[in-house]
Amino acid sequence: MTATHKRPRVVIIGAGFGGLWATRAMARFPVDVVLIDRSNYHTFLPMLYQVAAAELEPEDIAYPIRHLLRKLTNVQFILGEVKNVDLATQIVTTDTLPIPYDFLILAIGSTPNFFDVPGAAENALPLRSLEEGIALRNHILSCFERAVRDAGTDQREAQLTFSIVGGGPTGVEFSGALIELIRGPLLKDYSNLDFRLVRVVLLEALDSLMLGLPRSMQDYALLRLQKMGVEVYLKAKVRQVTPVAVHLTNGLVIPTETVVWTAGMRGDPLAESWEFPTAHGGRVEVLPTLQVPGHPNVYVIGDLAYMEVNGHSLPMVAPVAIQQGLAAVENIARQVAEEAPLPFHYRDRGMMAVIGRNAAVAHLFGRWAFTGFLAWVMWLALHLIRLIGFRNRLVVLINWAWDYLFYDRVVRLIIPRQRWRENQNG
Ligand SMILES: Cc1cc2nc3c(=O)[nH]c(=O)nc-3n(C[C@H](O)[C@H](O)[C@H](O)COP(=O)(O)OP(=O)(O)OC[C@H]3O[C@@H](n4cnc5c(N)ncnc54)[C@H](O)[C@@H]3O)c2cc1C
Repeated sequence: MTATHKRPRVVIIGAGFGGLWATRAMARFPVDVVLIDRSNYHTFLPMLYQVAAAELEPEDIAYPIRHLLRKLTNVQFILGEVKNVDLATQIVTTDTLPIPYDFLILAIGSTPNFFDVPGAAENALPLRSLEEGIALRNHILSCFERAVRDAGTDQREAQLTFSIVGGGPTGVEFSGALIELIRGPLLKDYSNLDFRLVRVVLLEALDSLMLGLPRSMQDYALLRLQKMGVEVYLKAKVRQVTPVAVHLTNGLVIPTETVVWTAGMRGDPLAESWEFPTAHGGRVEVLPTLQVPGHPNVYVIGDLAYMEVNGHSLPMVAPVAIQQGLAAVENIARQVAEEAPLPFHYRDRGMMAVIGRNAAVAHLFGRWAFTGFLAWVMWLALHLIRLIGFRNRLVVLINWAWDYLFYDRVVRLIIPRQRWRENQNG
């Protein structure tokens, strides 16, 4: 790609919530937009745990990027892994070609934060991408297959104990979905297995689940999970993860071959390697306008951006990424029109999490609190509306209805078959 172009070229890296929304907004302006992502699809991460819990197919929550950009004539999509961003020469290098930019929006998101816990990076299973969701589903189903095969051996306790580290919304949602998978369809599938051995354990380092929610909603989530059969340990800090156990700082050792890590996220370390000024969990500390200090034509948005409001960092959630994407676009348009960029203001609409069948929490606009069936319906409706693509919405609705009516899950395949071979020996 050559550097000679007449209109300003805006390069956007990452087609997640921040980058995709920024691309669609930027296309309204007289600029050339280049969107780069290492995948050719956008993933709806809030429903990723349902892929891992065999509730939805991976393609139900993903959408081809090119389809979304079809009508945007000034947008070019490049499928490629960005290897370097040179802030001095203003060149982005992918695995195939160098791309010069006039303005850059960096939106590459986050990676799991293992907080230097020994063995966690090597042995815990993250849940951050579609591939990881599929790998986790395969792993869980493989554990049941091996437990049946290895009946009578000492390994079974660890094979059938599923630990989730982190009692935030993802940890709570996944624990609930997993226990419903186990107590529902898997109980019927593995009728000769002793299900008294099967445990779902949720470990949270703090003294409550889902920090940020009112205490009554945290207690509701805790009681509901316990009622469903999840063993919840609060003030349970992980000291070490091995292939066969999780060790807590209070001395407790839980034999388990499955440790799902939802305890925290950090900025993608790539930004640091490209010499972006990082702080606070590898995130890039941006100016109130979302610009990178010293680089007025470079914006960082979404999970990768670190910004404080009233002494608290903005959360790593989709609405922040989307609103920042739109704000960065407005600021670039202002710069092109030779006007000063404006500071970003986040409009927090609240937090929601589903716990299980007919059970959810919704805390809206910091004022209204809903739990139970009403919150559950609100969660389903909102996520269905937000999901991209009519076909995806329809398929998801059918899957949910099937699951709700027949207590069954249609997606219980270990694919590709290679995965089963890899998982056979733990
Ligand atoms: C399991 C899970 C559940 C969640 N649930 C919720 C929820 O219920 N509600 C909510 O609001 N938020 C939720 N979040 C958080 C939310 O998804 C993130 O805050 C949001 O996705 C951040 O958007 P982003 O644009 O910064 O990054 P992302 O959406 O992660 O997008 C980053 C993009 O960059 C691409 N990329 C990365 N590196 C490169 C590279 N080197 N080259 C090319 N492309 C690259 C990736 O492929 C990806 O498409 C959840 C997150 C997870 C993981």
